[in-house]
Parts: sequence; structure tokens; C-alpha cells
Amino acid sequence: MRTVWMIALGLMISPLVHASNLQYRNVPEPVKIKLEAALDFLRTIHLDSPTPLHQEAFGGAPNYADWFEARVKRITMGGCGGDPSVIACVEFIMPTWLYLTQTFVRGNYSPIIQLGVLLHEARHQEREHNGWVHEYCPVPFRDDQGRDVVSSFSGVLLEGLRGCEANALGSYGVEYLFLSNIADHCVNCAPEMRAEARAVADQLIVRMVDPRAKNALLQDRGRR
Ligand SMILES: [Zn+2]
Repeated sequence: MRTVWMIALGLMISPLVHASNLQYRNVPEPVKIKLEAALDFLRTIHLDSPTPLHQEAFGGAPNYADWFEARVKRITMGGCGGDPSVIACVEFIMPTWLYLTQTFVRGNYSPIIQLGVLLHEARHQEREHNGWVHEYCPVPFRDDQGRDVVSSFSGVLLEGLRGCEANALGSYGVEYLFLSNIADHCVNCAPEMRAEARAVADQLIVRMVDPRAKNALLQDRGRR
């Protein structure tokens, strides 16, 4: 009888239970539903031949969702310092929490962009690397064509902001490795998703202000 009750209870509550083990606090329900759908997909991603740096960052047999949940236990809302260009952050004193800002909520980002952001923030939770802190972007900060570099997520000018990276395996590094491997090696991603991942990865590489880190990522991808 107890088994029957447990099954009945399970059936009753199952629509309310999300697939991940994450706790959500104050996250608007539509945002939470989209995040959980994206995390469900993250669990299924299959790469045919991930690159060496990807394997170094995520492990040889990647299950991105497990990697993420080993670093983040709770998603909540926060101001992240009040900068409207910031879409998500972590705080050193809250080692397993991830904060989403109103910019994230309003941004209505695609699943692939959301997942890149989640993995980026999870990388910041690695204490042994002091959170893989960012570098300040140079002033002025221009691309190969001499155009001012802006954030592809928020549209703000990046010059002088702490939105650049000096380490190929830092937070922007793992975000790039995720997106570029989706673009080049995902066997069960829709062509549109792969194309979007490619476009965002090609924008992110500009943030690599250390030439060695940038070249390491490009060589890893077979670009040079
Ligand atoms: Zn970051």
C-alpha cells in the first residue's frame, strides 16, 4: 500500500518537479521553465570529436549538465553590482549560487546563449583558480576592422570594462569552447543552433586579449 501511495504521490507532484537538482529562488516561472528546457537539452548533447582543450575543460566524456550542477546548486535573481550590461554573475561569498539579472530576463535569449552563460558562470565558481577572474578590456578596444567592440549580449561598448579574458580555459574560454564545439562537432543539434553557436563563438573570441590564449583556442579549433 505504501508503494501505491508513493507512486500516486509521485504522479501527482511530477508535473511540478523539474529535471535538474537546482533550487530556484525568485526566478520568474517562464524563465525557469526555459532554463530547465535548455538544461534538459544540455544533458543530451553529443559531440562526435570534441577538441583537446574542450576535453581539458569539461572532461573526456562531457555531460555538460552534470559539470554545471557540480558547480551551481541554486539560481536566484540579483543585481550583480547594478551594471545594466551584466546578465548574470556569481559572488565569491556564495560558492554555489548563480544570479540572473533583469537584463537576462528581458533578453529572452535563445537556449544556446543561455547555456553558454550558465557554463561561463559555473566556471567562475572554481575556487582553486580564484574564480577565473576577467581582465579589463583595453581602451580603445577595436576589432580587426577597426570597429569598437561591443557586447553581443547587451550591446554596450566593452572598452575599459572587465569583460575580457587572458586565459584560454577561463570563463570566456569555456564559453567559447562550448559554443565552438557545438558549432563544429554537435551531431544532434539543429543546423540553426550550430549556426548561432558559431556566430556567438566568433564574437566571443575578440574578448581574448592575450594573444597566446586566443591562438591556443583558434589552433584547438583547427583554425590556424
Ligand atoms: Zn564572467
